Amino acid sequence: MKIAFVSSEVVPFSKTGGLADVAGALPKFLAQLGHEVTIFTPLYRAVKTGFKPRKSRRLISVPVGSERVRGELYTGTLPESDVKVVFISNKKYFDREGLYGDAAGDYPDNCSRFVFFSRGVLEAIKALEIEADIIHSNDWQAGLIPVYCRVGYAPEDAVSSAANIFTIHNMAYQGLFWHWDIPLTNIGWEHFNYRELEFYGKINFLKGGIVFADTITTVSPTYAKEIQSDEELGAGLDGVLSDRSEDVFGVINGIDYTVWNPEIDDLIPAKFSIDDLSGKAVCKSALQEAAGLPVRSDVPVVGMISRLADQKGLDLIADGIDEMMREDIQFVLLGTGLEKYHVLFRQVAKRHPKKAGIFLKFDNRLAHMIEAGSDMFLMPSRYEPCGLNQMFSLKYGTVPVVRETGGLADTITDATEANVKAGTANGFSFRPYKVATLLNTIKRALDAWADKPRWSAIVRTGMSQDWSWARSASEYVKLYEHTLNKKAAAVPAAASDRKEKR
Ligand code: ADP
Repeated sequence: MKIAFVSSEVVPFSKTGGLADVAGALPKFLAQLGHEVTIFTPLYRAVKTGFKPRKSRRLISVPVGSERVRGELYTGTLPESDVKVVFISNKKYFDREGLYGDAAGDYPDNCSRFVFFSRGVLEAIKALEIEADIIHSNDWQAGLIPVYCRVGYAPEDAVSSAANIFTIHNMAYQGLFWHWDIPLTNIGWEHFNYRELEFYGKINFLKGGIVFADTITTVSPTYAKEIQSDEELGAGLDGVLSDRSEDVFGVINGIDYTVWNPEIDDLIPAKFSIDDLSGKAVCKSALQEAAGLPVRSDVPVVGMISRLADQKGLDLIADGIDEMMREDIQFVLLGTGLEKYHVLFRQVAKRHPKKAGIFLKFDNRLAHMIEAGSDMFLMPSRYEPCGLNQMFSLKYGTVPVVRETGGLADTITDATEANVKAGTANGFSFRPYKVATLLNTIKRALDAWADKPRWSAIVRTGMSQDWSWARSASEYVKLYEHTLNKKAAAVPAAASDRKEKR
């Protein structure tokens, strides 16, 4: 199959969150299964640090409102693969410090930027003569692609015949713009209604993707159910999704074990494996030193790496941290995000200088060091579409302590007596979103840590599990095939529709 994979961020070129990890990994695994994948992504300023994309001679001209905006195409490949990456370039829109915004908030022209990107991708597919069978678009930034494929081009156009898959990585980010931006999209006002693009008076790019794609996926089976049935998790689109329930699927993200693997990780001070964990002790000391904490092997280190956003359960941490710090533990946090949480964690660092190491920044090397050097990893998320850090943690012998929601529910099996005996327990989880339950679960984990054979059994179960992309990539292939068949079956009906209308 020929697959056009569209993502507004791709590791190693650009990243704000898990979407970038997925976009930098899944295409490689699809290619290994024999498919021809081309990734499309914007050429942000950050992409050009340490990497020189090649300029293509093909140009694109993209309608944005009444203007035709010129775009240049650059190409490259994903490292350690021959997966082609096409960078969509326009200095005015993408040559900026941030991907979606800066300290002042979202860029005010995000609607034009991602209209240009989405339509630009389709123009690039045509200009480069890629006969895509599947266009796989991700998140609101590419949400208009399935819309344009259906209503923006003549039926005989190359992009109209491609099957559209749309993947949602987080329902909370929808790409909402005021209704007067409709002319910018060049999608007719007739599609601005509650069954299509309109959402409480605004344009909703994510809704466009959900309504117009042939198949919708999200990044874990549990989240796929939650967003159709829970108003809060569906973020107002639960009804739209459940209307399409036959076409909604959940596929858990995988981990790229060429990047996140303690046996080959060059970003950590000592490598280790399930057969020889001695390197993990070295990583722990190095982490304690880097965090300015006493270097002690007899104290458990609880790590956390997170966007500092409400979704991540940080209000539970805020309310419970002082009690948690009464235990003999060390807490290391790496994160950046909302100012209120920066304030909170600066205060935590001040109150517990010998027990808390707080890093308020984005730092990939430190993220690897925390995964390798911690004993436990905390993810008390209010909701979590998939979550990657808990799966990284499993591979690094760091036991996840998580809230049972979304992808965390699909990947972590609580260390009850029975589960430990059955050899399935790989972490600790709790359901009620309450400080007391979180603290109780941390206490359970600390008790298990003190019981070395029990702890070792939990660690070994996690380390021996396979959360690689190999498994999830073949699930996507099945869904691509399903979507192609569905599209093929729909064509005669559409053709006869047209005949009747004539
Ligand atoms: P989300 O996409 O909601 O942010 P995920 O767990 O799916 O959550 O993915 C987050 C990714 O971003 C992980 O690879 C994580 O290690 C990384 N990450 C988050 N915050 C930081 C940070 N401050 N420094 C380095 N990496 C970070």
